[in-house]
Amino acid sequence: MQLSQLKMGATDPLTKYGSRAKEIQAQLRAAGQDVADTEIAWSVMSGLPSAYATMATVITATTDGDLSLDDILPKLLTVEHSEQKSERPSEEALMANAQDRHAGPGRPSNHPGGKSKGPCFHCGILGHHKFECRKLAQERSQQQQRQRADQ
Ligand SMILES: [Zn+2]
Repeated sequence: MQLSQLKMGATDPLTKYGSRAKEIQAQLRAAGQDVADTEIAWSVMSGLPSAYATMATVITATTDGDLSLDDILPKLLTVEHSEQKSERPSEEALMANAQDRHAGPGRPSNHPGGKSKGPCFHCGILGHHKFECRKLAQERSQQQQRQRADQ
């Protein structure tokens, strides 16, 4: 096995990927090549799938050039965990959730029996939420028309 072959599949667990990196390091050392921890860590970084790109950028930006697996693996694990939790919810799903919370029985309401609405975060008018805002919808369609005109 070679360091350059180190690549993490999109569905690989990070822990497995990390231990594979350590295996390669051990094998190379057994073969008489001294591989520094930082070299292994950088190889791990470069073999990460795109989901880790943001965290990899953060790690790269905050390091002085010396990395170790023990340093980066816990950070990368937080990405893995957040990926599993949220299957990238769509905007609609987020809005539906927000609506559910507003209509939920646990929430005290100033309007007995009715849905409390607004004030709108966009225009400030009571009676509707931002995602129902006609002013916002109008502005968005105007913006789209303008973009179309520009093309
Ligand atoms: Zn509004």
